[in-house]
Amino acid sequence: MDIHEYQAKEILANFGVDVPPGGLAYSPEQAAYRARELGGDKWIVKAQVHAGGRGKAGGVKLCDSENDMYEACDAMFGRKLVTHQTGPEGKGIYRVYVESAVQIDREIYLGFVLDRSSQRVMIVASSEGGMEIEEISEQRPDSIVRSIVEPAVGLQEFQAREIAFKLGLEAGLVQHMVRTLQGCYAAFSELDATMVEINPLVITGDNRVLALDAKMSFDDNALFRHPQIAELRDKSQEDPRESRAADRGLSYVGLDGNIGCIVNGAGLAMATMDTIKLAGGEPANFLDIGGGASPERVAKAFRLVLSDQNVQAILVNIFAGINRCDWVAEGVVLALKELDIDIPVVVRLAGTNVEEGQKILAQSGLPIIRATTLMEAAERAVGAWQNDLTQATRMMALK
Ligand code: GDP
Ligand code: MN
Repeated sequence: MDIHEYQAKEILANFGVDVPPGGLAYSPEQAAYRARELGGDKWIVKAQVHAGGRGKAGGVKLCDSENDMYEACDAMFGRKLVTHQTGPEGKGIYRVYVESAVQIDREIYLGFVLDRSSQRVMIVASSEGGMEIEEISEQRPDSIVRSIVEPAVGLQEFQAREIAFKLGLEAGLVQHMVRTLQGCYAAFSELDATMVEINPLVITGDNRVLALDAKMSFDDNALFRHPQIAELRDKSQEDPRESRAADRGLSYVGLDGNIGCIVNGAGLAMATMDTIKLAGGEPANFLDIGGGASPERVAKAFRLVLSDQNVQAILVNIFAGINRCDWVAEGVVLALKELDIDIPVVVRLAGTNVEEGQKILAQSGLPIIRATTLMEAAERAVGAWQNDLTQATRMMALK
């Protein structure tokens, strides 16, 4: 789960990382008020969306009057911000964060990530802040400092000092940098984060180490241990199809194709998507309905897959171990009756109670296309969709 910059800053501040004073606003009026509250004569206003690259996309503005602030926010609210990380559909701006502007002397990149090969938290830092890490690793790979944290002892002071020296910080700033690094590491490990990124971490004109930006992601499977983090979820920033699925306990990822998939088990769902491609089609989604899926759950899965307008055929692929084919078949029948589905539906069942399941499908009187193997199922789904298309074209030609 991702959170907003202002939320990440509040968390990190509680762990000893210094951030500029700021305030959240839900309207241009409120943003202008926040500026007045903060005082001073220069502020930065930042669109709160779950994506980086806001600066280049017009989501970060420097303002020098309350009126300026109002106008900048008026242009942001309700818009979709499109950055290189959001995809072409962009992310809605419903909150902005107003901060006192600071004078920047140096920008540093700082990231904490999980390094799969060492199975440890890795600190990635660079003296070339401000740029995205992808750019840095392309243009200035030599500037990148990497350091792996030993989990049994955590981030040691000498290790943090070493990072500070490698970044070329002057002696007077090292202690402040050590506190920043240790604060980030503590937040990362105590809150089960998967990523902490501060870009830029800056050295200010008056010699302070400040986090000007902050991004944090958390391990979904550990959120139950941190209700105060789970609460920070902002559904307006998620793919609506995916958040609807998560609310129903289904694991769903929307894709660009047109063959909807309803499968039990993540591995089988991946194999099903591959087979659809092999048969010449494109999957519309990844969907794992899990084990022990009740008929109601299967019907929910149908509703979810059909909420995607691009879906032109559905492939149900169930290998029932814990699941029962007769339950799944009942679910398919229930969904088809309830939802008035007018696209081809292909069902492949295998495993527990497969005969009963097949019987339910056969006796339903519904136009369900059945298949025995996965390859056969994928070919039929792709074939049925293409056939449907040619029929539709013929109809158009007749008109
Ligand atoms: P991102 O583009 O989504 O990563 O958003 P950032 O929060 O990193 O902001 C983009 C850029 O705006 C930063 O790299 C800074 O150069 C600049 N910026 C942000 N806050 C301040 C500030 O308080 N003062 C000044 N001068 N620049 C700022
Ligand atoms: Mn940034």
